[in-house]
Amino acid sequence: MRVDVYIRPQPEGSGPDVAFMDIRVVVEQPGRKLAAGEILAEMTETIVGVPCCEMGEVSFAQSVCGGPPGQEGLMEGNKKDSFSCETTRQEASPHIQTIRFLAVEGMVGSYEYRYRVWPRRVGPEGHSAPLFDFRAEPGGVNGAGVAFLALPPFERAQAGLYWDLSAMPKGCSAACAFFEGDGERTASREELLYSYYACGALKKEAAQDFGMYWFGEPPFDAAEAAGRLLRLFAYMKEFFGETEEKPYRIFVRKDPFDDSGHGTAGQRSFLFGYSDAMAPTVDSLMDLLAHEMVHNWPTMRDEPAGTATWYVEGCAEYYSIVLPLRAGITGYGHTERALNRRCAPYFGNPYRLTANLEAGRHYWEDSAAQRMPYGRGFFYLARTDAQLREASGGARSLDDIVLALCHGPAEKQTEEEYQRLLEKELGEEGLTAYEEMKNGALMVPPPELFGGVFERLEESGPDDRGEGLCTRYRFRLRADCVRQGTR
Ligand SMILES: [Zn+2]
Repeated sequence: MRVDVYIRPQPEGSGPDVAFMDIRVVVEQPGRKLAAGEILAEMTETIVGVPCCEMGEVSFAQSVCGGPPGQEGLMEGNKKDSFSCETTRQEASPHIQTIRFLAVEGMVGSYEYRYRVWPRRVGPEGHSAPLFDFRAEPGGVNGAGVAFLALPPFERAQAGLYWDLSAMPKGCSAACAFFEGDGERTASREELLYSYYACGALKKEAAQDFGMYWFGEPPFDAAEAAGRLLRLFAYMKEFFGETEEKPYRIFVRKDPFDDSGHGTAGQRSFLFGYSDAMAPTVDSLMDLLAHEMVHNWPTMRDEPAGTATWYVEGCAEYYSIVLPLRAGITGYGHTERALNRRCAPYFGNPYRLTANLEAGRHYWEDSAAQRMPYGRGFFYLARTDAQLREASGGARSLDDIVLALCHGPAEKQTEEEYQRLLEKELGEEGLTAYEEMKNGALMVPPPELFGGVFERLEESGPDDRGEGLCTRYRFRLRADCVRQGTR
């Protein structure tokens, strides 16, 4: 199958702000006949409560004229014999509401459709997490494909993406996770939907297939942050053993509301937001972006929700601290701040003693439940690393287990395989510690985390909701280590 997507953004007035986008999708499957009622296209309306773009009427036509745009222009095609289709609305998967467009009698497999989408607009009262919406801001639009792309069903297809920027002011450009401007590649439907796109008066710091893209003037030194992230990305790629040249792009959005500072990872890309009230520093950005970057590699099947969130988020938390430190991109000062940022939302969390699967049932209704596995996973993995080093006299570490899982087949990236690897290294003791974590035991950090550079401080007090007492831990760089680097 071949799927070509043509996008024409329409500016609001004479500036680069985008009012709406006209989209034309051409699907080619020569020789196929469609049964009435087969799905032609599916558009997401809301995803975990986040609204996708408002969509105009969708008109279909039988046509076979995809591929890179020729002389005739991007948005031409078969406009004459267009027709509309039956639709159905459903919960396509938990927390994802979609609308499906269904084939009429006598259709063949190659067809096209066109529609208009209006990017989401939010005001000072808004909020947004995760960042799946496709949003307008001064300077342009950005967001996830799922919020504006109506796609036919497929596993993998040859996919083309072409921008018609002729209506936009001079100097405007577009980028997505996989390339800048136009391009095509073999892609899964998942990759097209769950990766990021931007268009408008884009500013960037990019080298080959790595780049950071933003609008306007962020309150942090974007070029400095991007330079450090580029070095970190190269280091992480090597650590996780990625040899193929794969792109990675970071998109930045300015939120008009205060509750900002969140990031969401997509396929080979991520998007993060900042606001005037929550202006990041290069330091805090490094921490957030390092976390998101790690998500490219270690993974584990998280079904039902909660089974492996501790691993996916715990690895991101753990390696976002240790890899920048090992690479010499951050120093102990940064590490101390990063450690304490991981302590705060865990030790006072009302779900700190809740079992993994039970917490998983509350993810989408309570952000405290969602945050909990980050800290639990991080401190559990840090403890496991300390145990592995001790048991092997420094010869083995958490890296051995995580890399073995990473390099194994995708179907073995599971809880069972983790337990098997753990048992091989630590025996019964390792499995018992794992069960305790799974059932909600508090992951008290080892007193001398990371080789004793930090001392552990503790203090008792009310938990985050004032419902009970908790012990909160913090770390302080030992005085004799301060001179080794406070970056
Ligand atoms: Zn994460």
